[in-house]
Amino acid sequence: LATEESRATATPMMEQYIEIKANNPDSLLFYRMGDFYELFFQDAVEAARALGITLTKRGQHLGQEIPMCGVPVHAADDYLQKLIALGYRVAVCEQVEDPAEARKRGSKSVVKRDVVRLVTPGTITEDKLLSPSESNYLMALARIRGSSEPAIALAWIDISTGVFRLAETTETRLLADILRIEPRELILADTVFHDPQMRPVIDILGRIAVPQPSVLFDSATAENRVARYYGVKTLDGFGSFSRAELAAASAAISYVEKTQFSERPPLGTPERESAASTLFIDPATRANLELVKTQSGDRNGTLLKALDRTVTGGGARLLAERLMSPLTDPERINARLDSITALSAQPAFCSDLRSALKHVPDMPRALSRLSLGRGGPRDLGAILSGCQAAAEIAGLLGRGDLSEELAVALKALNALPGELVQTLATLLGDELPLLKRDGGFLRDGASPELDEMRALRDQSRRVIAGLQLNYAEETGIKSLKIKYNNVLGYFIEVTQGNAGPMTDGPEARARFIHRQTMANAMRFTTTELSDLETKIANAADRALSIELEAFERMTAAVVAEAEAIKAAALALAVVDVSAGLATLAEEQAYCRPHVDQSKMFSIDGGRHPVVEQALRRQSGMAFVANTCDLSPHDGEGDGAIWLLTGPNMGGKSTFLRQNALIAIMAQMGSFVPAASAHIGVVDRLFSRVGASDDLARGRSTFMVEMVETAAILNQATDRSLVILDEIGRGTATFDGLSIAWAAVEHLHEANRCRGLFATHFHELTVLSEKLRRLSNATMRVKEWHGEVIFLHEVGPGAADRSYGIQVARLAGLPASVVARAKDVLAKLEDADRKNPASQLIDDLPLFQVAIRREEHAKPGPSKVEEALKSLNPDDMTPRQAMDALYALKKQL
Ligand code: ADP
Repeated sequence: LATEESRATATPMMEQYIEIKANNPDSLLFYRMGDFYELFFQDAVEAARALGITLTKRGQHLGQEIPMCGVPVHAADDYLQKLIALGYRVAVCEQVEDPAEARKRGSKSVVKRDVVRLVTPGTITEDKLLSPSESNYLMALARIRGSSEPAIALAWIDISTGVFRLAETTETRLLADILRIEPRELILADTVFHDPQMRPVIDILGRIAVPQPSVLFDSATAENRVARYYGVKTLDGFGSFSRAELAAASAAISYVEKTQFSERPPLGTPERESAASTLFIDPATRANLELVKTQSGDRNGTLLKALDRTVTGGGARLLAERLMSPLTDPERINARLDSITALSAQPAFCSDLRSALKHVPDMPRALSRLSLGRGGPRDLGAILSGCQAAAEIAGLLGRGDLSEELAVALKALNALPGELVQTLATLLGDELPLLKRDGGFLRDGASPELDEMRALRDQSRRVIAGLQLNYAEETGIKSLKIKYNNVLGYFIEVTQGNAGPMTDGPEARARFIHRQTMANAMRFTTTELSDLETKIANAADRALSIELEAFERMTAAVVAEAEAIKAAALALAVVDVSAGLATLAEEQAYCRPHVDQSKMFSIDGGRHPVVEQALRRQSGMAFVANTCDLSPHDGEGDGAIWLLTGPNMGGKSTFLRQNALIAIMAQMGSFVPAASAHIGVVDRLFSRVGASDDLARGRSTFMVEMVETAAILNQATDRSLVILDEIGRGTATFDGLSIAWAAVEHLHEANRCRGLFATHFHELTVLSEKLRRLSNATMRVKEWHGEVIFLHEVGPGAADRSYGIQVARLAGLPASVVARAKDVLAKLEDADRKNPASQLIDDLPLFQVAIRREEHAKPGPSKVEEALKSLNPDDMTPRQAMDALYALKKQL
């Protein structure tokens, strides 16, 4: 498109278009023409398809018709929303001068236009484009190649709320960390984007990952760039950051500048998040446990949905954030739990707080729009009513018994400047228009001059009504009307047949100046009328400029208090989350978990938070509570593993999941569905649940299962919690059994983690004889007249049968097949009795020994290692180095 020939032959307007489009190749270009944004060429084709709007043509270019489509400016947000949701990026190009200016330059001159904003999924601020209960993160990934491991850091910004965070990560953790934060857009250097090692991550992220020029990620200039954004000389006051963190932060900021042009969103100072401070949940686990999204992508049926009783957008976002990144520091966890305890003890107080919170608007997002020059009167209104609600809530909080966390929140609310509220309250009216250019948002009495202008306007209306009467009398035309439209302004209208008295004679013609003749009406004006009109227009102009001036002053006053407003908004979110969780705990009979640095995991009467609510809602049935105790036997040492057997449909997966969810809930700082719970903080949580049920995908499913299992066996520590369901199911029985066997041994001997291992290989239960911290548990069933009844109760011991045949019968397998299966089973069991698995345990001692040597015995350095240690490459000539290498090789 942007070739010489193309430019040379284009109309002046097309030439301008092509120029601007060439600078924004990866965005759809919204090109402003009057009341429309127009799209041309390939952009038009794509947008028309994506938006379901008509594709038309406009002129020709290089002998071809130019495809075109357009969206009206007033409805542009709706279309933007659709395009952003589909993953498009949009460059908004506006007219940046008055068309009159262009005409002055010559008849062929085109109005100057420029892109004023790039709308991308990670940098939106409009309410219509945002979901109130979700954060909207832009994330930058920086990778710095050093001498050894590359340093990788992430920076994430929500420009709609000003949250700005940083964290270092590693190649293994990278994807998990990205998914924990769920960015809408992830930018990374194009060299990193195209690095084959990054392929798997990029593939999973799909459209979210956007390559950017590598200079954006330059670490040498990073600190300066960040400092410049905040207008400080050095970043020392913000804390200390690694080079990779600075590179990520600076890239994120540069990208914000690039998309927002001259505007500066009010970002909070970057907060550093250390990897060790959050519970590591790997991507597969996150998906399996359906924390904020079900496997099919729904928000319903998730843990978040089950826990959310917040009443504000800010509260909902904070809850989701806590759920996505549970903590590992018992002190911080307990600080959050203290708030719930405090509010639970004062139910009336808690419910008063919640009623007051319902009036809290989304202050951070309004603030962000105001700072970006995109705000309207309603955003000022949101700040005002937010501050008023904050004052009310501060008053309420002052009367309650507070936890430390809530006391800090109260302080932040009290720190809101009263003058700001005063100013806004005296100036802003009650009914606010969406756009400032519509005027009418200043209260009567706010400005004496404005009142005068408004009086003049109202008065003029009366004067016009008077004029109409006079003219009707004077001309004797009873139906004479004074009307108004945008083209003519005020005019007198009479029907054709009646126009005589106004057109007959020079006197009448001098008085009534003809303006327009319509099919059956004639329109006139008079000097009086046009004078009056000028007066009205001037008054309206003046009134609007008074209002706009006041708007700018109010906006400046709000932006000057950005820090205090943001702190208050966060405080309100904390109160909302705590009150929501307290309400939930009361409503669902949850208990406060005891969280500490031990390796305990003792859940008494635990329930599945999502299944329990669903069961009650759908069938009014009670969930069967189950106990889980993985605490170290002797009070010290490492935690235990339960090997869980039982029939299909017995409730194994539910039990496994519920314990993982309870750990997450406890560490995010929520009460838990149990009678009592004691949890020593978990550092990493792994769960492999379910996916292998989909046997249709065969080998690839097995592969996925093995990849996930490998990740667990390689990464779980003695502080981790591991939940494994049906390992080895997707392959031949003996293969599967062997893998499951070896995995249990590894977890017990090498990882030494706390774990739940559900299996249908009953052979594994003999392992409990050998592995000290392994116990067997089973899902109880009752048999009654040949029917199985699932009790969903977990008890000690091993299931003696899997009841697979009974389940098959329940599912409607033909009676003949069921009978035959019973025969086959009896034969197989008979053979098994003659050669039981318990023999295996004596024949298979090798694995544990091997692990012991590798993990614990740590043999001393070998001869080769010693020799290597004594070498100093810096002192050697190439020749000597070569000789040394040969000598080393010989020692092997
Ligand atoms: P499994 O993994 O053993 O095949 P599931 O965990 O999938 O069994 O549970 C089967 C069904 O039993 C689920 O639909 C669930 O709703 C119900 N269920 C499981 N555990 C309980 C329980 N503790 N109380 C009530 N119903 C339960």
